[in-house]
Amino acid sequence: MGQMNRKLLNKTSRLACVCFIVFTTTAFVPIFSNKAILPSTVDDPEVVFVWDGALPRISDKDSYKDGIYSQLSDRELMLALLDESAAIWSNVAGSYLKLKIEENPGLAKFDPKDKVNSIVLSNTGTLSAAATATPVLSENKSVIEDCDIILSEMGEKNIQSILIAMVHELGHCIGLGHAHDNLDSIMGYGRTYSSYKLGADDKAGAIYLYPDPAYGDTKVRQAVPVQCGNIGVFGSSSQWATLLIASLPFSLVFFRRRIRWK
Ligand SMILES: [Zn+2]
Repeated sequence: MGQMNRKLLNKTSRLACVCFIVFTTTAFVPIFSNKAILPSTVDDPEVVFVWDGALPRISDKDSYKDGIYSQLSDRELMLALLDESAAIWSNVAGSYLKLKIEENPGLAKFDPKDKVNSIVLSNTGTLSAAATATPVLSENKSVIEDCDIILSEMGEKNIQSILIAMVHELGHCIGLGHAHDNLDSIMGYGRTYSSYKLGADDKAGAIYLYPDPAYGDTKVRQAVPVQCGNIGVFGSSSQWATLLIASLPFSLVFFRRRIRWK
């Protein structure tokens, strides 16, 4: 094998490794190994987070999404962002959990022992952390009985970054840990795009921890076949496309060698 081919093979095998990582490492990570959850049940699904009312400096209130928030006061805007972050976790189909935000400056404070879930603005103590969450387990370790979120007061923040930070920290409070090698998870740092939406595995984590027994495929009835298409069969065009892309590095090596022989 020539030096060029060896170099090419080196490059392509590295590419194959990257593809392998992208296709295989997708999963959520529970923050506690024993499946601890916020105090909630299917019949009593609501968990409240109280906000201390302190406001970060928001840089793009007038320009964000063509100014949809420009008419709101800073306080109304912050409440809207907190509500939207909570709603992201409350609206996972298949999870019963409902998160609720209430403004209560007298009650909200960073205190891991007061059994009050608080959202406060403060100096997080580190330059790199935009926010932190501190989930605290009950004595029998089955319940996350307190989870305070600190948003860093340092610098100006744009709306998108506040939403991403809040959804990520609320994710810790409901019981999810970091999924760093999951490129689609808001709970990891490996995400290749800037969005506060949940990835499929974030949703899977919420469903795993807070399963809603009422959720299921209502179209499926006993003794009625479920139509599933071409699962596991290379029949659809998207499956052929996947195969083609996966084989690209090897095809490159093959054709490169053939061209050299001529
Ligand atoms: Zn985190």
